[in-house]
Amino acid sequence: MSVAGKTAVITGSNSGIGLGIAREMAKAGVNVVLNSYTDRDEDHALAAEISKTFNVNAKYISADMSKGDECRRLITDAGGCDILINNAGIQHVAGIEEFPAGKWDAIIAINMSSAFHTMAAAVPGMRAKGWGRIVNIASAHGLTASPYKSAYVAAKHGVVGMTKVVALETAQEPITCNAICPGYVLTPLVEEQIPDTMKEYDMSREDVVKNVLLKRQPSKEFATVEQMGGTALFLCSDAAAQITGTTISVDGGWTAL
Ligand code: NAD
Repeated sequence: MSVAGKTAVITGSNSGIGLGIAREMAKAGVNVVLNSYTDRDEDHALAAEISKTFNVNAKYISADMSKGDECRRLITDAGGCDILINNAGIQHVAGIEEFPAGKWDAIIAINMSSAFHTMAAAVPGMRAKGWGRIVNIASAHGLTASPYKSAYVAAKHGVVGMTKVVALETAQEPITCNAICPGYVLTPLVEEQIPDTMKEYDMSREDVVKNVLLKRQPSKEFATVEQMGGTALFLCSDAAAQITGTTISVDGGWTAL
């Protein structure tokens, strides 16, 4: 079965990996719902541009993924979805003793709890239609840890665990739930942590990229947003119908070390 004509809701998709996945999905004929909490003219323009370029229905729905009721409203306002990509995420880098409690709460809410709410809202519609694909964008940090990222690592491990639970709850239905675990992808989220990491390690930008960010990525290359989109599309294909409750690492060998 082709994914063309299906509808995908992609949380946090006006930038980076989410936008890359939205474009790859649209290229494959999937109707896409873009999301962020910003509600700017350019967010709506992005949806219009994708719609025009790929000849699919594309719309932008503003909803704040730090709030459970907004996560659920996103699914309702989208009119349900066949494909749910939980991608919204933020990062903060600090040692445990200085880690601001507000940042902890925000990261747990946006990076982890949002997936609980959107999945809870989307699964009944998938069950009714008899088809569904859930792809949670976790991280290599859902499988391993790094210093200074307590909230992010906790949230991403939580997403991997929740992915397995939803897969088991839907195992006997034509619904799958998996997580993609990217290594480093050069997006605004990664760009923003370079200055803090430069300070933390007293290093130049070039050294942070080479010796900190890509230190654990044996390929020594960033993964791309297009590769994330391609992996998500594979998980939506018939070939992946028996792949559920697992993780696919797209990390240049990071988790093989
Ligand atoms: P990004 O900063 O480019 O994109 C984050 C997206 O989340 C944006 O669209 C932003 O609008 C959205 N977002 C943030 N807070 C939101 C909120 N409260 N409500 C709704 N949307 C919100 O970052 P990215 O690198 O593309 O990250 C996307 C996902 O991929 C995140 O979950 C991140 O943890 C994960 N990831 C990224 C990398 C990487 O190297 N870039 C690696 C592993 C995992």
